[in-house]
Formats: sequence, C-alpha cells, structure tokens
Amino acid sequence: MTAAPRPTAPRRIVFLGPPGAGKGTQAAAVAREFGLLHLSTGDLLRAAVAEGTPLGREADGHIRAGRLVPDDLVLEILGHRLRQPDAAGGFILDGFPRNLAQARALERTTPLDLVVSFEVDRQRLVERLAGRWICPKCASVYNLASRPPRRPGLCDLDGAALLQRPDDRPEAVEVRLKVYTEQTAPLLEHYRATGLLHPLDASGDPAAVTEGLRRLLAGDQLGTGMRDRQRP
Ligand code: ADP
Repeated sequence: MTAAPRPTAPRRIVFLGPPGAGKGTQAAAVAREFGLLHLSTGDLLRAAVAEGTPLGREADGHIRAGRLVPDDLVLEILGHRLRQPDAAGGFILDGFPRNLAQARALERTTPLDLVVSFEVDRQRLVERLAGRWICPKCASVYNLASRPPRRPGLCDLDGAALLQRPDDRPEAVEVRLKVYTEQTAPLLEHYRATGLLHPLDASGDPAAVTEGLRRLLAGDQLGTGMRDRQRP
C-alpha cells in the first residue's frame, strides 16, 4: 500500500552510510510504501557491467577492487536515470553521493529534502558484508546471520543459486571501508551544515531499522528547516 504522503513528507532523499549499513535493504523495504523510486548507483553500475556496455567495462575493475568508480561515469549513469519520468515523484538515492564532487554535482541537478545517516559500528559492518549473499535473478539480499534463505544457498523467491559479490571479499571490504572514511564520511559534516542530516540507528535487526526509517520518512520528526524549503 502506498501511504498518502503528508505535505511535509520528504520526497528527495539521500541515504548516506558506510558499506554494509543496510541502505539498499532499507531502501527496498520502504520505497514502494512511500511512492519513491529507489536508485542505487551500485545496482546501476553492476547492471552496466552485466550488460557489458563500454561504461560497465570501465567500471568493473574499480568495483571489484572496492574503489570508487570515476565520477564522470557515475554522474552519466545516474543523471540519465534521474531524468526518467518515474523519478519525478521522488527518489531515494542509495550510494550516491560518495564524495564532495558528487554532492556538488547533485546540488546542481536537484534540491534535496532529507539526508538519512545510517549509523552502525564498524565490527558489525564487517560481519554483515562477509555474510551477505545476493540473488542474481531478483537482487534479493540475504544474510547468513540476520536473514538466511529458507533453503541454504537458494533464493526464497525464485530458487536461483545465491552469489557473493566479488567486492564482499575481505580485501575489497577493507578498501571500501577506507574509501568511505576518507571520501564519503566528510559528507556528513557537509549535510549537517545544511540542516538536512538526520541520524538513523541502523545497528538493530532489519525490521527495527525499517520502523525508525518509516518515522523519518513520514516527515513528522523533521524540523521546520525542511518544511520551509518545501513551501512554494
Ligand atoms: P556498498 O554501499 O555496500 O559498497 P554499492 O552497491 O552501493 O555497495 O556499491 C558497490 C560499488 O559500486 C562501490 O564500491 C563502487 O565501486 C561503486 N559505486 C557505487 N556507487 C558509487 C558512486 N556514487 N561513486 C563511485 N562509485 C560507486
């Protein structure tokens, strides 16, 4: 069911947080309910890799190593998607922006209503990434610790054999966490200064995190700063 959005409900939203914080899982859980488009730059890039497009071929090595894909490629793929009509009603950006240059490029494209900061301690991130398995067919995400598939190694929805992402190997995980600390975490201060940043405790089980997120997306916990920005 799609919740009737309140006039103050945020529609242009960024999910910010380290790899393994559950941004993708939570975006998938709430996007439809709030009538928002879930846009994951990681998913868009992996689709380009799977299709073997020139952009995908260039991105592939960066992704496998856990490094950021060059900004021009990410901006090209995201800009194209944001211009599609289904993005006009509102979106959740999951995994973008990841550095200051991307944040500035986004500001030139669209205003934002809310940036959700997913807060989880590092030990838990490593556990989550190491236990993550993905369905290559429908993109469902499982976790051996918190959300195991009913039949080991197989997707509950379509029975496909689950895969581990190449960048969930320990060496790539280390690089991703370092890249987050050095390049993405400074965005927290950037968005705090604009009054858009709202923290979310993302250390609990997925259902508990979804509940906290629903309250934020309903708009009733947000300050007047956002409401002011929403006025015509
Ligand atoms: P996670 O957040 O768990 O690392 P993602 O699916 O968001 O997973 O990203 C996987 C990889 O895709 C990143 O490590 C990076 O190589 C690439 N990527 C995704 N989004 C961006 C972005 N905004 N800028 C640069 N690279 C990106």
